[in-house]
Amino acid sequence: MLKVIGTALLSIFVTSMFWIWYFNFVPTPQPTVARSGPVVTVQAQNAPPVAVAQQVQVMPSGLAIPVVGIKADQLTDTFDAARSQGRRHDAIDIMSPEGTPVIATADGTIEKLFTSVRGGLTIYERSPDTKWEYYYAHLSAYAPGLHEGQQVKRGEVIGRVGHTGDASPDGPHLHFAINTMGPTDRWWNGTAINPYPLLAGKKVSG
Ligand SMILES: [Zn+2]
Repeated sequence: MLKVIGTALLSIFVTSMFWIWYFNFVPTPQPTVARSGPVVTVQAQNAPPVAVAQQVQVMPSGLAIPVVGIKADQLTDTFDAARSQGRRHDAIDIMSPEGTPVIATADGTIEKLFTSVRGGLTIYERSPDTKWEYYYAHLSAYAPGLHEGQQVKRGEVIGRVGHTGDASPDGPHLHFAINTMGPTDRWWNGTAINPYPLLAGKKVSG
């Protein structure tokens, strides 16, 4: 009987020692991290690389908050806010100082660079599966060399926060929208969905 207990204790002891040794001395696979200027590239094991600028928060939705340095709890839900002529906002405004880097919220292709009266300097980015359009407006500048047809990675700097179009100089911000796109929809088509829960990681308020 004692021998059985002794063997059991010994085996527990050996097992414990094994796991203590294992966790301390056997390295777990680490993602490779490379830095180039303000961009950090993370190469996870068995996964394609993701380039994420520093100070960027990537939410469970997989979308990055598209303004560098802005955290989820700084966002407000203004999707349903009224705008002139009975329009609905259909976007969120991310307040940030003029010139703050604007980054791609997800991988995609720059489908259209467009200047409009209301949006000012804008970017339309299409998702690789063409089902989503990401819209960035009121920019003060595009990233140098940005052009239509260019493929961008999540976290890549594509522009700068500004107040072009109908935005107030006193409140520079990124106007950011997400549209669901049908198979034949062009960049100006689509149906807006609320980016807030995707970027803030919580339910729509109200
Ligand atoms: Zn807006």
